Amino acid sequence: MTHGSEVKPESPRQSPWELSVAPPPERWDDWRELDPKAWPEKRMKEYSCIPTICFNCESACGLLAYVDKATGQIDKFEGNPVHPGSRGRTCAKGPATLNQVQDTERILYPLKRVGKRGEGHFERTTWDEALAAIGARVRAAIVEERREEVMYHVGRPGEDHFVQRLMSAWGIDGLNTHTNVCSASARTGYAFWCGSDRPSPDYSEARFALLLSAHLETGHYFNPHAQRIMSAKERGMRLAVVDTRLSNSASHADHWISTWPGSEAYLLLAIARELLRRDARGETGPNGVPAINREFMRRWVNWREYLAARDEGGSGTFERFLERLAEEYERFTADGAAEECKISREVVATLTDELIRAEGKFTSHLWRNAASGNLGGWQVARSLLFLHVLTGSIGTPGGWNPHGWDKAAPKPSEMPGGPGHWNELLFPKEWPLTHYELSMLLPHLLWDQKKNLDVYFTRVYNPVWTNPDGASWIRMLEEPERIGVHVALTPTWSETAQWADWVLPMGLGPERHDVMSQETHAGSWIGFRQPVLREYARKKGEDAGDTRATNPGEVWEEAEFWVALTWKIDPDGALGIRRWYESKARPGQPVSMDEYFGDIAGNVPGLPAAAAREGLEPLGYLRKYGAFEVPYGGQQRYEKEVDKGGAVLEDGSRRAGFSTPTGKLEFYSPTLEQWGWAEQALPNYIESQVHWRALDLTRGERCLLPTFRLPTLIHTRSANSKWLNEISHTNPLWVHPEDAALLGLENAGLVRVATGIGHFIARVWVTEGIHPGVVACSHHVGRWRMFRTVGGAQLASSLVDLTWQGPVLTIRVKEGAGSFESMDPDTQRVWWKEVGVHQNLTFPVQPDPVSGMQCWHQKVTVSPAAPGDRFGDVVVDTDKSAEHYQRWKALTHPAPGPDGTRRPKWLNRPMRPVDATWSI
Ligand code: SF4
Repeated sequence: MTHGSEVKPESPRQSPWELSVAPPPERWDDWRELDPKAWPEKRMKEYSCIPTICFNCESACGLLAYVDKATGQIDKFEGNPVHPGSRGRTCAKGPATLNQVQDTERILYPLKRVGKRGEGHFERTTWDEALAAIGARVRAAIVEERREEVMYHVGRPGEDHFVQRLMSAWGIDGLNTHTNVCSASARTGYAFWCGSDRPSPDYSEARFALLLSAHLETGHYFNPHAQRIMSAKERGMRLAVVDTRLSNSASHADHWISTWPGSEAYLLLAIARELLRRDARGETGPNGVPAINREFMRRWVNWREYLAARDEGGSGTFERFLERLAEEYERFTADGAAEECKISREVVATLTDELIRAEGKFTSHLWRNAASGNLGGWQVARSLLFLHVLTGSIGTPGGWNPHGWDKAAPKPSEMPGGPGHWNELLFPKEWPLTHYELSMLLPHLLWDQKKNLDVYFTRVYNPVWTNPDGASWIRMLEEPERIGVHVALTPTWSETAQWADWVLPMGLGPERHDVMSQETHAGSWIGFRQPVLREYARKKGEDAGDTRATNPGEVWEEAEFWVALTWKIDPDGALGIRRWYESKARPGQPVSMDEYFGDIAGNVPGLPAAAAREGLEPLGYLRKYGAFEVPYGGQQRYEKEVDKGGAVLEDGSRRAGFSTPTGKLEFYSPTLEQWGWAEQALPNYIESQVHWRALDLTRGERCLLPTFRLPTLIHTRSANSKWLNEISHTNPLWVHPEDAALLGLENAGLVRVATGIGHFIARVWVTEGIHPGVVACSHHVGRWRMFRTVGGAQLASSLVDLTWQGPVLTIRVKEGAGSFESMDPDTQRVWWKEVGVHQNLTFPVQPDPVSGMQCWHQKVTVSPAAPGDRFGDVVVDTDKSAEHYQRWKALTHPAPGPDGTRRPKWLNRPMRPVDATWSI
């Protein structure tokens, strides 16, 4: 299935009926198959198959583009059978890349604003004009030491290092990601245990998997993980899914546990307590494996630090630690879990049975879900990993790996150092422990800190629509003194791009270069995204030039754009910036993509040798296969003996250990204690902002769960796919039948959902697939645009009126989706009108005081729509959202820490400014 230095490609993936599912690589240059559209005539088509990578979610699945040799155009996308992560499979969004390439509404030429920002008037410009104007502004900010006024804000990176290196080369601490509306919380929980901030479940040998996620339908590394979960289930793995909502994943599980949102850590800690009690009674699995792996814990948990801090006068022995452990968690009873989580009291015993039966072959996953919804959600990740620590299922086959083992991260040979300043708009001192930037707070931080951005790049990033409190983003973008120039780098229109000054069309997945790797299993690989038609031209012996020559219109790939912009910023090299993007072989010339990615390919372990065996250069190998399986470093790497660093164990040996200050798994976190969170220094349970005790159900109050995806859509990026939008274009409010009766709601009727800062009007879906007391609404639809042909895909967005009355914004739908004339006859067949409601606008920012994560779940009041309410209405008061921001900020424990720094130095900061900037 995989292809790499040690492993030759196996025969292509077969269907269960022994039919070939994908052509083998040796036939990619000359693949022939019958044209299904010509049936019943048997007409043969000839293809050149070019591998690339999907850009629709973060999984980086391999795609194979079928270029029709007769037309020179891409006919379809299917899975790349030699990609080690996705193994030839895709989800629906992979093949739908074709819609995005052929989208008749995509932006094909660079545009610049005419009139006031946000009025919807743009005119075509040239790349040269855009480069000159933007380059001059960035240069001025650098020369005048206003580096903090340049920011690059990214939604979907789709690459592993390029812009981080670029910002470092420019000397600008300006890389802002979307992480704290996504995964900051789970990352925090994992990082405090082991330094690694992402999970990599090994389903291959697991006997029991516990998912706090919906991985069989959406979720992190969805397709690569879903296929491995299903394979494991086929060979007998048991599966439990903790999800308030009956997801497709839950429907495949042996146990579906519908917890009250935010109570999950309690359930996990009750299982921990039960494990400890059963172990004390001598209970074992079927092969005599004890419930608790004492030897693993004795070796790898920082129990001595815990006892020193929390058991003064105690014996200081491991046995004493186990006693204290039992005492610490005695309060998390099965009865308590039943009450707190609103589940049956048997759940704790049932899941503990599964864990013990698994005998250490236990894996789990949590990424968004419970972690991303709740105050203290990071403790859900910490409590989940606690179960792995207790069972010793860390770094073992069928267990849980730190992500860094399973992700390859090749880089160019030369990397610039970190910037010489610390940007408080990214890492403000109020959130010293955050993972990562406080990106969703940007408007509030600009107003609070009385700062401005002179050049603000948004790249595949749509904060007006994706983030909470989008109305504050609109206000910020409408203030010329706050945002000097907004450059939207995007393949398609978005709500945010409506407020751009420059709209620059960037290549889609099959129109650009990137190197990517993800931790999809116990193995590691790199995938290579390449511009398909450029590679096709190269195969034909044509000198294709840059990607604008082969992409539609004047669409450019981002990497080439950044190189060109860097040369505008530093044309003569005097700033010392240009040299990072200068050709080594052709001094005085910009680096080409072949040179840039050829350098990286040469640095991938094992790739040069594998390529040489086929008579190829390393980059030629990636261009040919689209992926490479990097020789795997194996599991249990913490046990590797080292000469320095790492952890010194009880037996006196020095081992590689984990990336924490003690080198061990930090059950007790001295960092949390020292930075003001002593009460949270152990895995613990924090009551959510939507705890059921905080709701008065008799007054219509409910918990709104807004965090789930639709399997066929992906945030901003899938709006321009006609196939996907035909399948999914609504986001009704899930309401339990008991609640529908109590609240007077009817199926398909209109409902008003009031948050702390406004309300929205949705349709009702009465279903038993949701916990009573909780309502749910997906965030994947509800797109809108202010102008008929500018601002959004007509088949996926509503045309709206947007009005301000003082601080209050009202959005009302003027016209839904529907058919329209274009070069594509399918656009006349658009039969759907309602395209959902934009609920995120009505959410205040709720940044967790530790992780910085947006706590997405909302306390809402649900009622039948009032007279005059219309479907899709959104009303929001930005003054109230400012109050919410201040209220949540008051929960923080600001820096400096005990050593006078802004942030513990051992915690990751993706772009790390020089050491001198860390002190306050
Ligand atoms: S899982 Fe993600 S990367 Fe893979 S095919 Fe689907 S959208 Fe593309």
